[in-house]
Amino acid sequence: MANLERRARGVARVLVDEAAIQGRIRELAAGLDRRYQGEPPLMVGVLNGAVAFLTDLMRAMTVPVEIDFMAISSYGASTKSTGVVRILKDLNNEIEGRQLLVVEDIVDSGLTLDYLLDVLRRRNPAEIRVVALLKKEKPGAIEVQVDEIGFTIPDEFVVGYGLDYAGLYRNLPYIAVLDPSLIKS
Ligand code: 5GP
Repeated sequence: MANLERRARGVARVLVDEAAIQGRIRELAAGLDRRYQGEPPLMVGVLNGAVAFLTDLMRAMTVPVEIDFMAISSYGASTKSTGVVRILKDLNNEIEGRQLLVVEDIVDSGLTLDYLLDVLRRRNPAEIRVVALLKKEKPGAIEVQVDEIGFTIPDEFVVGYGLDYAGLYRNLPYIAVLDPSLIKS
């Protein structure tokens, strides 16, 4: 418990607890198992935030899958997306003709995912589906393809379960809201 307290320092409240996350992942995995009965999908994780979700989701699935990762970075302020994205690490796999399952941590304004999907579509995969653990209820967010959502959350900055603030908090097993006094705007 002492370790959990140390990594949780600064957390104001838990928004989605560990049991809820893992329960929802089992539901999502069951749906994905039904969908991908034929060819193994290529699960595309977006580093670093989607790592926890992707690894738990793939282990809850029983169909064969392959995985690959992209790293992207948005320019600008630390807690707000600008939509200007650069690719820091590209996929290792060719994706033409493949069934892609993009695994995202969180969709906020939608700009990052929109950009990523645009990049992937140009490479002519057979299909792209998107599963996001979290989607914020955000006024003014753009319309972007998200096929499955783990949880819809209020428009607050969250950390944990892969999501960071200043590089920390990714190893919390739950999703939490930070003490606002910690966040530099
Ligand atoms: P969008 O482009 O949809 O506004 O933001 C997408 C990216 O911004 C996410 O993949 C994530 O890296 C980051 N992001 C958006 N909202 C949050 C949040 O509440 N907490 C954290 N830690 N990152 C966020």
